[in-house]
Amino acid sequence: MKSPYKELKEEALLANKEIPARGLAMYTWGNVSAFDAARGVFAIKPSGVEYDKLQIDDMVVLDLDGKCVEGTLRPSSDTPTHLVLYRAFALEGESKGKVGGITHTHSTFATAWAQAQRSIPIFGTTHADHSPNGVVCAPVLSAEAVAGDYEAETGKAIVEAFKNPPKDFAKCCSLPLKKRGEWMLVPHENPFVLVAGHGPFAWGENAHKSVYNAAVLEEVAKMAFVSLSVNPHTNPLASYVVDKHYQRKHGKNAYYGQK
Ligand SMILES: [Zn+2]
Repeated sequence: MKSPYKELKEEALLANKEIPARGLAMYTWGNVSAFDAARGVFAIKPSGVEYDKLQIDDMVVLDLDGKCVEGTLRPSSDTPTHLVLYRAFALEGESKGKVGGITHTHSTFATAWAQAQRSIPIFGTTHADHSPNGVVCAPVLSAEAVAGDYEAETGKAIVEAFKNPPKDFAKCCSLPLKKRGEWMLVPHENPFVLVAGHGPFAWGENAHKSVYNAAVLEEVAKMAFVSLSVNPHTNPLASYVVDKHYQRKHGKNAYYGQK
């Protein structure tokens, strides 16, 4: 019998295969999910299976209560983080319908910034082409959060960092942060985050785009590290250049690329 989730599982499978292809994680580290908003389900990598062995029927499909609706393997241990993020970002508010895939990696440079517990300042146009603000680093989870539902708490810490970024985060940005709806950082406009002591998460309109954003984040993290090595006093890029680059790709009069 043909699975009603074949396309969704295929999207998740291909996006997961992109993780090793882009050098974003070793062994079984990392995971990608693909979300179907209309049906309220997402397909995610199974736990502990190596990327080169992944098959379409290994993908696990879950609903937004975390109940498995298709698949026989255990889903990624990070599944509750994906679930919390889809619920918070994709179903209502500013980013409704604009988050259809989530990627988690332990890519070296992004993870190094997370381990240093530092948000990444917006230093250049490579970064501004993809997000108008710095990359926020959510604080280390409390002992209670780690002892509780750890992976769901990781998701909640990310959501909180987007609603109320740490006070010093403004220094990583050029443009002033303005609240829209409940968000100081609108999720689909700022498609990546660091979790202190852990690593990066990224998202996009589909699973493939979320891996793309995870790869962009890794490159941005690497460039920011090198910029600070060349000049430890590097400042965030002038706001008018940031605005120009973000708007020409994502604004209402965007003109980058082919029609
Ligand atoms: Zn992890």
